Amino acid sequence: MLEPPASAVLVEAFANTVDVEEAHDEIATPAGLADWLKDRGLLASPGEISTEAHQNYVTFRAGIREELGAHVGDTPDAELLAAADRVLAAHPVLVTARGALTPAAELPAERRPLAALAIAWSELVTTGDAARLKRCAEHTCGWAFWDVSKNRSRRWCSMKVCGNRNKSRSYASRQRQTIEPPVGRDPGEQGM
Ligand SMILES: [Zn+2]
Repeated sequence: MLEPPASAVLVEAFANTVDVEEAHDEIATPAGLADWLKDRGLLASPGEISTEAHQNYVTFRAGIREELGAHVGDTPDAELLAAADRVLAAHPVLVTARGALTPAAELPAERRPLAALAIAWSELVTTGDAARLKRCAEHTCGWAFWDVSKNRSRRWCSMKVCGNRNKSRSYASRQRQTIEPPVGRDPGEQGM
């Protein structure tokens, strides 16, 4: 088994705070975000997140999810990426004497975890591991997953569920194409 590094576990969990299929967002509110960050030891307790800072996390997550989608061949939304970049520009990180990255000291407590998430993402990109972190190619699912396959070729979070769902759908659309009603068919029959 190819174990994901800690930074991948963190970024994957952050990307999966939104569940597209269940239409549920764990960090939909500043309070929900604060709880999520506290659970991961990223935010000192008691910590509060302002509405503005909260929006930054959501924007950053959207950018990350676009990047993960690009790893299965989706075209990333340039605007979402640019918005995430603008957020990151407001969350500086420092290089320590030992060469490690750390959130800039002047960042307020509510913004430091975002810099920490950015550092985790940056580590993955630097090592090349980011390519294994993907967003399920089945868009109704959109689950972020760590691809353990040797050649990093997986496109679905689960071949059993999403992979087959995708296959049967393209099969159905091929079927539809082949049984297209002939032109000039009685309009009264439509909708059958
Ligand atoms: Zn999936």
